[in-house]
Amino acid sequence: QLGGVVPVFRRALLFSNRVALQDDVGIYTYAGLHRAAMMLSKEISAYLVGESKRTIAYLSGNDASHVIVQWAIWMTGNIAVPLTPIHPPEMLKYFVNDSQASLLVCTQEYEKLMKPISLDISKPLLITGQDKEVTVQLYQPNNAHIKSKPGTSILNDVGKSNEWYSKADAMLIYTSGTTSKPKGVVWTHDMLASQISSLQDAWQYSANDVVLHTLPLHHIHGQLNSLNASLAAGARIRMLPQFASHAVWARLLGMGEREEAKVTVFHGVPAMYSRLVADHAKMFDSPRTAEYVRSTLQKTMRLMCAGSAPLPDTLFKKWEEISGVRLLERYGMSEVGMALSNPYIPESRAVGCVGLPLPGVAARIAVSVEGKEDLDPLVTVESSLPDLQISLEKLGLLPKGSAESSNWSSPTITVHKKNHDGVYQGELLLKGPGVFKRYWNREPKTDQSDFTKDGWFRTGDTASYEHNRFRILGRTSVDIIKTGGYKVSALQVESALLECAKVADAAVLGVEDERYGEIVAAVVVLMEDQTLTLPELKEEAGKKLAPYQLPKSLLVVDSMPRNAMGKLDKKVIRKLYGDQLK
Ligand code: ATP
Ligand code: MG
Repeated sequence: QLGGVVPVFRRALLFSNRVALQDDVGIYTYAGLHRAAMMLSKEISAYLVGESKRTIAYLSGNDASHVIVQWAIWMTGNIAVPLTPIHPPEMLKYFVNDSQASLLVCTQEYEKLMKPISLDISKPLLITGQDKEVTVQLYQPNNAHIKSKPGTSILNDVGKSNEWYSKADAMLIYTSGTTSKPKGVVWTHDMLASQISSLQDAWQYSANDVVLHTLPLHHIHGQLNSLNASLAAGARIRMLPQFASHAVWARLLGMGEREEAKVTVFHGVPAMYSRLVADHAKMFDSPRTAEYVRSTLQKTMRLMCAGSAPLPDTLFKKWEEISGVRLLERYGMSEVGMALSNPYIPESRAVGCVGLPLPGVAARIAVSVEGKEDLDPLVTVESSLPDLQISLEKLGLLPKGSAESSNWSSPTITVHKKNHDGVYQGELLLKGPGVFKRYWNREPKTDQSDFTKDGWFRTGDTASYEHNRFRILGRTSVDIIKTGGYKVSALQVESALLECAKVADAAVLGVEDERYGEIVAAVVVLMEDQTLTLPELKEEAGKKLAPYQLPKSLLVVDSMPRNAMGKLDKKVIRKLYGDQLK
């Protein structure tokens, strides 16, 4: 009965009366969310035109309505395009246009924002009640086509089989636009299901988890790790409207919370942990309160993960110092979901590394060779995916039987070209059932393909494999600086600069130079009331870095441009400060 791919909203129904989600407005059971989504799906299908696969772009806050709208779209068999209120109107317009949305959906609070966009693309906008009751209102711009009146179609979760969903597109997840314009990645229900199994196996999600969710939901980090993997496991999600350090501290400490609602899991980007660390110093400034924080977190937190951007060594160490919890750093992309992860056992997690391929993922380091068209593999590491049967058994949804424990701890390693020091460096390639097949609304590239001839996805990231661990060195096109015959990883220099006492934030880029080709240039934000010169910086950073890795240019700024996911926006940094770094 549960064979094949089970779309998340159906799997979730198995947890019927358990609490699925708590937001600032109320508490919702799995069955309650499902019921609300069924009602909304009926309304949605009434406003759709044509029969082919349609995209529906929706904007809601971080609350129950996001799940209700997403499930409702899936119930109608269409493609969900989640938007975030963090993005300015022009960006929202870009996503709506690029995704060719047939219909827009938003909650009342975003009505003003979405109406002009609806008018612009001449597509109807469905406005759902903020009370999470499924009262909807329609905004019909000029020439918008409407199929029928609401309430005239049948409920939609009956017609489609799990088999049908296994082949269907589920959502478009847009890349962060770090290297070019954001690209829409087509996520099938199948990809989502295999990613969820993989994460459940590796990170041990369970119905006993209480997940604190503050990540924006337009991105794969929030959608997969925090939201859908948790819902598929029957966990309880505590959603906050956005990341706000004080509110997050209060929830992490379980202040005023009943036992069953105390947070056990948190997924965040490094910029969030960095904010939490900074506020920790101000909020818990006596040894007694600091000790209380540490002992509480150590007792209650099962898992705290970081990713989407590099986690600096100092931050990893500082977090462990103040919370007693060792962060689990992992590496992922919109195109592949989660790919590499540190081990679940805290003692085995290592600073500065992203671990090994997750179950179902094969990772390869490859290099280009003169005269050869395809890349030459150096090393391949592969972890097998436990099947759905196993993951459902682990969740207690199927009787215990054939399936045994995780395969994850024993990946298969194939060395293609033996190297005497055991360090392999090059482009990171990925393969597996969780890897995407295509971008939305884009012809496959012909000149430099996204995939190798034998089907490996080219991540565009440079990585190394050493001592049985992968390390991310940065984006090949942005972060690998070629200076005087050396290749320098901007990420490693940034991590070292952050260890300097006066440095609060740092971005490193390559700046064109006649003599060296490129020079290593640093843009830094300083701790309050500090000053810093280039020789001082070189002296301190020189304890960690080789001379050729040290910045030759330094600029002190007040704040660092970051995007919605807290990633350094190096395009903007270069535009703003490039000239001053020469
Ligand atoms: P675009 O593809 O539009 O240029 P993007 O690559 O930033 O934007 P995402 O899919 O959100 O869009 O991000 C994936 C990238 O994030 C990876 O290719 C990698 O460079 C970076 N990344 C993710 N996790 C880590 C990590 N743990 N350490 C270092 N980098 C990471
Ligand atoms: Mg990318």
